[in-house]
Amino acid sequence: MHKIVILGPPGSGKGTQAEFISVALNIPIISTGHIFRNEMKNQTDLGKRITAIMDSGGLVPDEITNETVKNRLQQDDVKNGYILDGYPRTIAQVEYLDQLDELSRVVNIDCSDSVVTDRMAARRTCSKCGTDFNILFKPTKVDGVCDQCQGQLITRTDGEPDAIKERIYIYHQQDDPVLDFYKNKGILININGEPSIEEVWQQIREKLNLDS
Ligand code: AMP
Repeated sequence: MHKIVILGPPGSGKGTQAEFISVALNIPIISTGHIFRNEMKNQTDLGKRITAIMDSGGLVPDEITNETVKNRLQQDDVKNGYILDGYPRTIAQVEYLDQLDELSRVVNIDCSDSVVTDRMAARRTCSKCGTDFNILFKPTKVDGVCDQCQGQLITRTDGEPDAIKERIYIYHQQDDPVLDFYKNKGILININGEPSIEEVWQQIREKLNLDS
């Protein structure tokens, strides 16, 4: 069974690659960022508690994040495997997850700070339906207008320059111990995330033996 974690800095393209893996293996993606953004959009109690943290690019506290993932892993659709995207990010989360389940592989998408900064600054989101675009990789047909619903495109608050800087800074405060943990377990796969989306996907397919 495939229980995969996908790691990498924000902007490394891990969400896109997680979608490819999800389709190839027919397993769901659990994205903590996505879950949290939904809570904010729906103005739930949790959503209200985390809005300021999320907007500034900071991390949601470990207890909240761990509890959220634990609940999600109890749902039926993950019985045949899953891909975790955006979790675990801290060593406390790594240790919590380690007690919760046994992972099969951890895919680390490596990317320099300058590349991820440029990619994140190019992100746009529809203000009406929430569809994500990227002026570098996934531009809309008409500049600034959503392809799905013709809504106006905006830059997410966490895509502003200061928040991008903060997210990269926070990533580097945590990434080494997280990667070391999985390296020591012998389940870490390193991928160069800087080439094109197709080339990155090719590397992942090879290293996860998805073609055989
Ligand atoms: P992402 O889309 O994965 O970059 O996540 C967006 C935001 O959600 C992050 O900047 C954090 O504020 C929050 N978040 C997502 N995953 C986690 C996590 N594992 N631990 C703490 N905060 C998280």
